[in-house]
This record gives sequence, C-alpha cells and structure tokens, in this order.
Amino acid sequence: MLSYLNTIQSKVDPAIFSRGVKLYLDGMVGNPVSLLIDNWRLYNVTGSAGSYEVKIPILHLTLSTKKYAMAADALTQSATCECPYYAQYGLCKHIVGVCASLDQEFGSKYREFDASEEILDNIFASQKVKTHRKWLETMDTLLSRDTGNYYYLDNISRTIKTEEGQHQPFFDELTKIVEVVIGDYSREKLLVRVILESILVGGQCWFDYWSEYFLQLDQYNQINLFKGLWKIYWVTAQIDYKEKLKSVFRNPVEQVKLEVFNELFLEFGLEKNIWLEYCFVAEYYSWLDENFENLDPLTLIRYAEIFPECREKVDLLILNQIKMWSDFLPTGEYGMVIEVFQEWGNRLGKGDFYSEALDYFRTNHPRKKKLLNQLD
Ligand SMILES: [Zn+2]
Repeated sequence: MLSYLNTIQSKVDPAIFSRGVKLYLDGMVGNPVSLLIDNWRLYNVTGSAGSYEVKIPILHLTLSTKKYAMAADALTQSATCECPYYAQYGLCKHIVGVCASLDQEFGSKYREFDASEEILDNIFASQKVKTHRKWLETMDTLLSRDTGNYYYLDNISRTIKTEEGQHQPFFDELTKIVEVVIGDYSREKLLVRVILESILVGGQCWFDYWSEYFLQLDQYNQINLFKGLWKIYWVTAQIDYKEKLKSVFRNPVEQVKLEVFNELFLEFGLEKNIWLEYCFVAEYYSWLDENFENLDPLTLIRYAEIFPECREKVDLLILNQIKMWSDFLPTGEYGMVIEVFQEWGNRLGKGDFYSEALDYFRTNHPRKKKLLNQLD
C-alpha cells in the first residue's frame, strides 16, 4: 500500500513535515480541483504567509505497484507549489499538507494495479516530453478554470510557431483534453478564448489544429468564436493562411451568421466596412437583401456580381444615385463618381443605364468632359 505521507516524509525536513501535517489538521488544505490529464489535481493551501497553489499527481492511480519504491522520487520531481520555500528548496509544508489530505481521502482504498506507468515514463523521459507535459498542464489549467492569464499560452504559441512541425506529440496529447472539453458548455467558453489567443499569436499551425473543432462547439460559443476570428481576419493584413481563414466563415449555420453579423453591427456601427465585408465573405446575404434599396453603388456592384438576376435593379439604383450626385456634387469631389463608373463598367459591363448615367453627368458638368472621356 502507498501512503503519501510516508512517501514524502523521507524527502523533507522533520520540521517541514510536522508543519505540513498541522496545516492539514487545522483545515488549511482546500478542496481539490481535478485536472483533465491523467489524475492530476490542484489544491489551494493556506499557510502562515498566504495561500498557495499545489499541483500534484495522484500517484496511486497511475503508478504501477512495482514502481512504488520510486514514488518518493516521482513526487519530488512532479509535485509543485507556488510558495517561495518551494522555489528555493523543493518539497514544502503545503505539499505535505496535501499528502495528509490524500491519505485521509483514500485511506486503505488505494487501487493497486500494474497497467499504467505513464507518470514515471513521463518523469524520466526526454526534455521535450517534459516540455510538452508542462504545456499540457498549462492547456489543462486554461481549459478548467477562468484564469484570464494567457502569458504561458503565448509563450507556447511562439515556440510552436518558430519550431513548426516539431511538436506533433503535443498536439496528439492535447486532443485528448480537447475532446473532453467539447460538449461541456462552460469549458467550451474557455476553449473559445484559448483558440482565439493561440491563433492570434501562433498563426497557421494553431489554426490548422483548431479548425476541425469550430463547428463542434455549441452554437452560442460558435458566435463568440467566429466574431473573434473575424477580428483576427480583419486586423491581420498579411498572414499566410488568410485564404484558409477566409473560407471558414461560410461554414456555420445561418442562425450563427445572423448573430455574428448583429454583434459586429452593434460593436462597429459606423465602421461599416467591417460588417459589410463580413456579409460577402460569410455569404450572409439577409441583411443586404433587406436593405437593398439603400446600399451604396459599390456594394450594389459586388451584390450584382453574385446575383446576376438583380442586375437591372442594381443598374437602375446606381443610375439614380449618380443623377443625384451629379445634381448636388460640390466642386472638386469627383473621385467617388469616377470610381463608381470604373467599377460599374469593369465588373458589370457598360450597358444602357451606364451610358445614360455618363451622358447625364457629362451634360451637368460640361467642364469635366475630358475627365469622363476615359470612361467611354
Ligand atoms: Zn509551498
């Protein structure tokens, strides 16, 4: 049988040992939070100088009985605490307190089996495996509790970006964690933030990894996800995976697109291009249909390219707009008119309405004839 207290006793100073046991007896060891990866736990332990977080593997569930003799080494190398004593000397009274709590909780009910040797395998494995182990702990924590702190995630993302293709084992292991998170609404909320942060800093490798999960999320979480992705798409001019990123906005169901649009509309109001561009990229046309009569000529031209059956209605609306501009245009402001004529002619062809608009403009502004001649 494995006792955590007996195991740790040989590794700590007697004074630390008795102080740790006293912490437990005084009720200073909090309730544990289970991490998703193979039986790790987080404890908050309050000592004389404050409250610290202890992270510890549940050895008796993961260590084969043959290796119980190495349990003390395993504990020394894997249990951690945030306190200053731990930083300087290693195993501290807070970890001892947690060991006492574990003994109390599991008593003689320790399961003994030979199946899994993961912990020792990981502990004594190569540096890279250790690094991946730490990364997985970070991911596990971020997907278990709302820490709001993405400092370590950003570091991981930068490393993965510079060492592209070298961390597949990490992604393989991460999948086990992610698959537990998917379907759990509140953890998915944390996942959305992790996805957006990691893609923003890490770029394509993270995007490629996450993209298969986008549509597996709850629809409400999808709204936040696609809204965040849209901001990344919008603010990031030069990224190598821009076309891939662009293509994902078409995928969600219509209801999700509607909600994403509404949120962008609310948030960016006057910055019209941001939500207007979303309509075209996401192929979300409901808003454009409803506001067809009030769209500006350049938007109408894009619309008519996608829906040729609206061509005549579009031509007429642009003609009327140009007539109105022509009547009220302040001197010197011809740039917009010229641009509309150019786009109109180049993208939809120069039909009868086009000629009519050009004639109208030419008659009203005879001194701009030379400028307009190039549009014929
Ligand atoms: Zn400590």
